[in-house]
Amino acid sequence: MLVKKEQGRDVKETFVRNEKNGLVYFTVPVFERTGLVLHAFSGRTGGVSEGAYESLNLSILTDDKLSNVWENRRRMVTALGVEAGAIVGAHQVHKDKVYRVLVQDKGLGAFDPDTVIPATDALTTNEPGILLMAFFADCVPVFFLDPVKKAIAVAHAGWKGTVAGIAAKTVKYMIDEYGTNPLDLLAAVGPSIGPCHYQVDAPVIAEFKEKHPLNWESFFSNLTEDGHGQLNLWEANLWQLLEAGLRKENVTVAGLCTYCRPECFFSHRRGMAGRHAAMIMLKER
Ligand SMILES: [Zn+2]
Repeated sequence: MLVKKEQGRDVKETFVRNEKNGLVYFTVPVFERTGLVLHAFSGRTGGVSEGAYESLNLSILTDDKLSNVWENRRRMVTALGVEAGAIVGAHQVHKDKVYRVLVQDKGLGAFDPDTVIPATDALTTNEPGILLMAFFADCVPVFFLDPVKKAIAVAHAGWKGTVAGIAAKTVKYMIDEYGTNPLDLLAAVGPSIGPCHYQVDAPVIAEFKEKHPLNWESFFSNLTEDGHGQLNLWEANLWQLLEAGLRKENVTVAGLCTYCRPECFFSHRRGMAGRHAAMIMLKER
């Protein structure tokens, strides 16, 4: 994370709020400055969906009207300057599979729910012109950009994906497939449920304990005798990225809780059924 001096103190750079055509979305300054990608994490306003999906629901795998999601997607990609046909999306299952998107995959999951990439929680590519899109309503979006090898990825990390190490596995996949040096790799942990609103119970805590016997406690606060605790998925994913070899200054953490900001974000825990998208595309060369 870049640090700039502001009024004599260090201020960590975070996600930036953008507004365009009535849509609100968030971007990562360090990604923007590379000039290599178009990317965003969408907010929930400015769309046409109703009820629990109000209003910018971007997932075609919910019970929302497809025609509404198509219109929402059109609005979002238009704000980025991309065609909806460039989208690639997956059926996310809270596991740890990483899928490399090739040219011939372009458009899978763009319009037709039957064409989504099956059972995948991280998408990666080094092909320009493909908009990787992953969906969220409290789970943690992790964006990746290797500005040297020119490769990107987006991962879906709820508590299960985090325990399974999806962020670290995405880094390893990029090292193996593209020759990424983790010291070059930029990552960003987007808006998602914060430690302020993420109480979990004993079985969840037990899984973190088993996976991280030495430092599991650093991911929790307010551990109670009856086996509950507040889980900090931002911290757990940041730790995982640093363990995978990333530099701390190259990881941007939004620190924005989706539950805390119902005016801006969907939250599954609040009973909102819409989905945001984390999206990233390498610009055409
Ligand atoms: Zn909160």
